[in-house]
Amino acid sequence: MQYKSTRNSELRLEASQVITQGISSEGGLFVPEKLPDISSELSDMAELSYNELASKIFKLFLTDFTDEQISYCVENAYAQEKFSGEPVKLKSLSAHDGNKHILELWHGPTCAFKDMALQILPYFLTVSLSKSAPNKEAVILVATSGDTGKAALEGFRDVPGTKVIVFYPQDGVSPMQKRQMATQEGKNVAVYAIEGNFDDAQAAVKKIFTDSQMKASLAEHNFMFSSANSINWGRLLPQIVYYFYAYFRLCKGEGLAVGEPINVAVPTGNFGNILAAYYAREMGLPIRKFICASNSNKVLTDFINTGVYDRRRDFYTTSSPSMDILISSNLERLLYALSGENSTVLSGWMERLSARGYYDVGSEVLAKVQDIFFGGCCDDSATAKAINSIWHNDAYLLDTHTAVAFDVYRQYVEATGDSNTPTVIASTASPYKFVSSVLGALKPLNIDDNDEYGNISQLEALTGTKAPSQLKNLRDKPVRFDVTIKNSQAASYVLKTLGIGE
Ligand SMILES: *Cc1c(COP(=O)(O)O)cnc(C)c1O
Repeated sequence: MQYKSTRNSELRLEASQVITQGISSEGGLFVPEKLPDISSELSDMAELSYNELASKIFKLFLTDFTDEQISYCVENAYAQEKFSGEPVKLKSLSAHDGNKHILELWHGPTCAFKDMALQILPYFLTVSLSKSAPNKEAVILVATSGDTGKAALEGFRDVPGTKVIVFYPQDGVSPMQKRQMATQEGKNVAVYAIEGNFDDAQAAVKKIFTDSQMKASLAEHNFMFSSANSINWGRLLPQIVYYFYAYFRLCKGEGLAVGEPINVAVPTGNFGNILAAYYAREMGLPIRKFICASNSNKVLTDFINTGVYDRRRDFYTTSSPSMDILISSNLERLLYALSGENSTVLSGWMERLSARGYYDVGSEVLAKVQDIFFGGCCDDSATAKAINSIWHNDAYLLDTHTAVAFDVYRQYVEATGDSNTPTVIASTASPYKFVSSVLGALKPLNIDDNDEYGNISQLEALTGTKAPSQLKNLRDKPVRFDVTIKNSQAASYVLKTLGIGE
């Protein structure tokens, strides 16, 4: 299988090249030339373990990897000691208002779904580099507003042939996120706080990436920059697997017959997770409707309802911060598919978005979007209400992001009357990762956002659930990284970390 770009349909590259490169040179995103159709093989796949299923799907897409290389990636990424058992779990709720099945994607090292992709990307990347740039060491630079930085640190930690350096805004992450990064273990990791906000951290990283002198200094010492950001095909591909896995668990545990349709509801930010479900459908998984859930930053809800993508609006800081986003980059891949893979039309929309802040896909593409997508949104107070009601009705504790998806699924059932189709709701974080908001939803009292360990104990006592040990253990881990730097010092700290220069 080869890959082309959303903005250049003529391009053809191998999987290892698109994973190494991340983004196409004309600014487009890499997409498979043609998605494999495995609809006739579903029955045979139903009994596979998670890792077997992952290997089977990866082989279809990573055709310049050997079988041994794919096994190496899968076995290291989804190892028992990292995920304790099967990497994802499906829990079914007693169905009086809908047919709800929760796909828990947060059993990895950082308790959020980004682990599913960021645990395996480093292995995809080092295998890819061994083909295109042997003997080079990859330097991963990350600017983060919280979740991605920690997940990248854990993913790349002690992976041979890689170094990872994370910059986060000094005042832009939660106390728990700061602690997660400051106590990071591993011989190949470094973390710096940057004075300023997320945009300052991102600007610093972008500047380093494009600085030709930096590139030359690195090359001289056999290093090269690479990126782990969410548009890399190597982050999308691993997410396709768990939708198949969830479907087969429904067949086995809930009596679903192979071939019967399901819905999928996803709390959405950059549109990566839900796009992976769309690709699963294109490969033959019977998905009827994609329920795309946004928080108050409802740019996608408006898009699905009107066909106009418009980022010219206020940005809200919400209780589901990993979905606080106004540009959902991966939507470009969906629109490429729905516009008949017309890279000229697509490039026009994307140019319009960057020049004027909006684009309109027109009635034909809009009809295709609405045929399979339902879009809805949910503010912080409705998010808290959903956490409270699911806890009291189903004794299941939701995190804030997952709660947004629950509320929008409720809206979907109300709007369509479709309460029968089994619906897989992607649960993207442990409730303990956003403990202060979750506790506040159950118990409206004065909550000290900075006392996260006190809040963890309270939530455990109130619900009889247990916080993941990954979060609890951080309390006693020594701080390894406590340096705060100015934006302008970032480049020299990269060189220093790599042992280059002064
Ligand atoms: C990143 C993230 C999301 C959004 O996922 P996208 O793939 O960007 O749409 C949702 N929930 C949590 C907890 C996340 O970390």
